[in-house]
Amino acid sequence: MNSKKPLTLTMKIIIGMGLGITVGAIIQYLFGDNTFVNDNIVNGLFLAGGKIFVNSLKMLVVPLVFVSLVCGTCSLADPSKLGRLGGKSILLYLTTTAIAITLAIGLALLISPGASETVTMTSNATFSAKEAPSFTQVLINIMPSNPINAMAEGNMLQIIVFALLFGISITLAGEAGKRIALFFNDLNEVVMKLVVILMNLAPYGVFFLMAKLFSEISLSTIGNLIQYFLVVLGALAIHALITYPTILKVLTGLSPVIFIRKMRDAALFAFSTASSNATMPVTLETATKKMGVDNSIASFTVPLGATINMDGTAIMQGVATVFIAQVYGIDLTVPDFLLVILTATLASIGTAGVPGVGLIMLAMVLQQVNLPVEGIALIIGVDRLLDMTRTAVNVTGDSMVTIIVAKSEKEMELDVYNDPWAGSKKEE
Ligand code: ASP
Repeated sequence: MNSKKPLTLTMKIIIGMGLGITVGAIIQYLFGDNTFVNDNIVNGLFLAGGKIFVNSLKMLVVPLVFVSLVCGTCSLADPSKLGRLGGKSILLYLTTTAIAITLAIGLALLISPGASETVTMTSNATFSAKEAPSFTQVLINIMPSNPINAMAEGNMLQIIVFALLFGISITLAGEAGKRIALFFNDLNEVVMKLVVILMNLAPYGVFFLMAKLFSEISLSTIGNLIQYFLVVLGALAIHALITYPTILKVLTGLSPVIFIRKMRDAALFAFSTASSNATMPVTLETATKKMGVDNSIASFTVPLGATINMDGTAIMQGVATVFIAQVYGIDLTVPDFLLVILTATLASIGTAGVPGVGLIMLAMVLQQVNLPVEGIALIIGVDRLLDMTRTAVNVTGDSMVTIIVAKSEKEMELDVYNDPWAGSKKEE
């Protein structure tokens, strides 16, 4: 009998990531200037492989969120519960973001990454700010004028609103509603099956993404910005490994070690894709299958979190604000910092979780406190790696809030949460 255990999906993804980094670094070192390799391998094979993988995840997002949220709403015995769920999740999402940025500002003030003279000369990149949406516009945009359009554009908040209203109508529509609810439950099974099928592509997709990134990324830029880079990483690590476990333990009593361990796959996906939106299929799977959260909660809190909850991004913004102020020799006052916390927390509501969006939000924050937006050019060189890391923190935050809300609503199977192998069978 063959006693060799099959590799788990997580292991395969880690191997894909390691191989990708190695191959990318070798290509950069040996063939950095070779046009043939750059055109055909890096911007040919690697680009196509990575894009196909990310597209396959994005392809799932709209059907998955819509169908599972409709099912979730139909299965709520009492639709008035929705208001309570919404209130709790938004409060938790905004509070954790405010904590994150406060921590980041504190750490940055303590270490002063922008105080050394050298950083001013590090970059000749430029940054022109895209328009960030105003708060009124964000409010207006929540109500879809055309649900098909919302789906075509992948506008998460609008899809959430439409799915909730649709789900509520199903529960109120008697016999006809019951038939439609059954149909949506079957459809949900089918969509979840598709998620599992496509997740098996992940090790290859991650390989291509990493190989492309490391064939091109210039790690020497990190050298000049090492202090900024490390302060952001440090704050992200403290938030993920200390703040989250503490909040989870205090508010639910559940084991934070199990939580962190079960977050592995979602965090790896988030790291490779740098997009909370694209990671959503995996976050939902993790919350429902591995952590035992009922779909009626997760289908609501996870997409909401992917859009409005960006603790990792807020951390980058906190450190970047202090860094840019220090480089330009501008002193920020306590009211300035409060304004930064408020703006960064609110800015996260209106912006989707896609790669690089944090920089657009940062432009908005800098403008609020009259710091030069061009300062973003200083940090742009190291942003991709930080984007990947902060996205992993963003999805960890989404999952933590999901668990807290589910536990408080008693919509969680604790046996599944405590079972180390729950939801892992498909990996074999
Ligand atoms: N990439 C991040 C996300 O998708 C957003 C950002 O920080 O740019 O969550």
